[in-house]
Amino acid sequence: MDPSRRNATLPDLPAFEPGWVWLVGAGPGDPGLLTLLAHRALGEADCVVHDALVGEGVLALARPGAEMIYAGKRGGKPSPSQPDISNRLVALARAGGKVLRLKGGDPFVFGRGGEEALALARAGVPFRVVPGITAGIGGLAYAGIPATHRDANHAVAFVTGHMAGGDAPDGVDWRALASGGQAIVIYMALKHLAAIATELMAGGLAASTPVAIVSRASTPRQRVLETVLGTVAGDAAASGIEAPAIVAVGGIVRLRAGLDWMGAMEGRPLDPDPLGRDAARRTG
Ligand code: SAH
Repeated sequence: MDPSRRNATLPDLPAFEPGWVWLVGAGPGDPGLLTLLAHRALGEADCVVHDALVGEGVLALARPGAEMIYAGKRGGKPSPSQPDISNRLVALARAGGKVLRLKGGDPFVFGRGGEEALALARAGVPFRVVPGITAGIGGLAYAGIPATHRDANHAVAFVTGHMAGGDAPDGVDWRALASGGQAIVIYMALKHLAAIATELMAGGLAASTPVAIVSRASTPRQRVLETVLGTVAGDAAASGIEAPAIVAVGGIVRLRAGLDWMGAMEGRPLDPDPLGRDAARRTG
């Protein structure tokens, strides 16, 4: 193929039919992380029902004239209830709209996408699911932290630090997670960070276990705090780091010294051997 034409055509994408709901992941913030399907849906939707986590730059890609419907918390007011949102989606679809339900990250990762899709299914409304880049993978990557690295971990657990009602995360067996010795990636962790850290250490993780908090990942306001489990709660509070933030616990955080590509663009040197030569020789 003529190389100058290589990018000229997109693959055949499914049409966005009236009366359908597309449940789409918007990724962590950077519009460049949208999928082609998400981009098409934004360009064709009659209405976009979005939550607070969807970035401005992403919303700006919506078709001019599309109705933008906010379904999240605003100014401390309670967010619309989940049944309200689901009913709204059903009503919009039945009215013949191309309904884009846009969620931060991936719609099926701690995003209640499953609940909404079930409600659509119950109502007989046709829907398509478009996965997105989840904060626990893409957000960490923007901070130079890989979800896995063979010298650091062989598994990664995605955990919520919040229960459905916003209470302490007592539905998670933190000690069991700690004893597995693998990487732990925690969503919605800031509020209960002290309790979570205490539980993880009670489960056997050393106070010196590396931790990174990545706030507003992949947006212009991205901020990263690197610390250790023993002091993470106090350090986070002192730093004023804000939600939304993703927390990584374990050896993968050490890789950041070598992989912080954004820092490198700003002139910070990368450590070519962030885990130490011994680790490399062991698995060599
Ligand atoms: N469906 C989303 C997660 C929704 S739960 C996803 O797949 O990413 C909300 C939590 O996601 C936040 O509390 C935070 O922990 C995380 N999160 C979402 N976007 C983020 C971002 N840009 N930077 C850091 N954390 C983010």
